[in-house]
Amino acid sequence: MQATITYLLTEQAQRAQMAATGQPVARKQTMTVEVAAEDLVLCTVADDGTATIEPLRSDHRPALLAAGWSDDSMLSATTYAPDVIADIKRGNALLAGAYAGAIAATERYIAATPALSMESPDHSYRIAVPFTALPKSPILHLHPRIENKWDSYGIYSTAIDETTQQLLRARAQAQRAEWLMESGAAIDTFLADLAARTHPSYKGATITIGANVPIGERHPRYGDLWTEAASRNAADEAAKNVAEAAKEQLKQDYIDAWIAKSGDAELQQQHADQLLCRKTVLALIAKEAFGDYAAIPDPPRCRNSDCPCTDGFIECLPRKVYPAWKAIEQALPGIEAKFSKVRDCLRGDEENGYGYDGETAGPVYYTADLTLQVGPFQMERKVKLG
Ligand SMILES: [Zn+2]
Repeated sequence: MQATITYLLTEQAQRAQMAATGQPVARKQTMTVEVAAEDLVLCTVADDGTATIEPLRSDHRPALLAAGWSDDSMLSATTYAPDVIADIKRGNALLAGAYAGAIAATERYIAATPALSMESPDHSYRIAVPFTALPKSPILHLHPRIENKWDSYGIYSTAIDETTQQLLRARAQAQRAEWLMESGAAIDTFLADLAARTHPSYKGATITIGANVPIGERHPRYGDLWTEAASRNAADEAAKNVAEAAKEQLKQDYIDAWIAKSGDAELQQQHADQLLCRKTVLALIAKEAFGDYAAIPDPPRCRNSDCPCTDGFIECLPRKVYPAWKAIEQALPGIEAKFSKVRDCLRGDEENGYGYDGETAGPVYYTADLTLQVGPFQMERKVKLG
């Protein structure tokens, strides 16, 4: 049948035609073409029978590009007008052929790639097929059903044949069965080992057990695993609190007994009034435990690496210092010590010491960092050995 197609020139095309003919050119143009009834689907047909074709409509653009048009020629009415329907049909056929080839290649690629699977059988998903697995064709890039990634094409799973879809689903089921078996074994091991622990940060977070086996919230046994893991962690916390309370009670009992035995009336009264600081009573206990061995302050040091001031641990003692240590060891059974060789810094603080031109470090002496277990308390102090 014959159809009259009405179209609008772009301003650019209108100007081009006016320049070419030297005549005024109307924006609205018509042409009569031979159209088969089935070609009308390519046009927009209005109620009054007016057929309009819009080459720039996005659904015709890939076909026209496949037929050899450029985006520029679509803007020029003089170029496209007579052949537009034939070109759209030809382009669509080229696209369909390229896509059919891509689908066949995709099916071969799936068959040869056992890791590919399709979890959900119900919705279409895109299979990433490497460029190298598909026929080389610039037309594929134009196909509206194909997504171009940087190194692959996305092909819709609904486009592949039913047998290949079933293969993908069967693989997904096998993978899931294997995952359930492996993760189930890890869960059994965790549940059987009462000493095993895991600490997911919240319910719903992935739980990691065994040798780094992650159990996500969607695992059918997640709930049971969470309950057991949380109950073990809660029991640990309770046991820790009990142990800490018992330790604290021991300390309290020791302090009570010490004050009753060694404190004077005033100290006993202050303690009874609960107004005695723990720090104070611990200092009194330490003073009694260490007896004659008074604490010395930390030796003054500076940060200047050229200064000979020093305070470093040593593994052995000079002979003249050894007797002082031996006396401490005998007086305080169970004492432990770390020894240091020291020279005090004489520069004062770093700013005031700047420009100090005398000897900047004092004579060598030796210290011991003592540790003494007194009842439930571990007491420490630094003493000078000589
Ligand atoms: Zn110094």
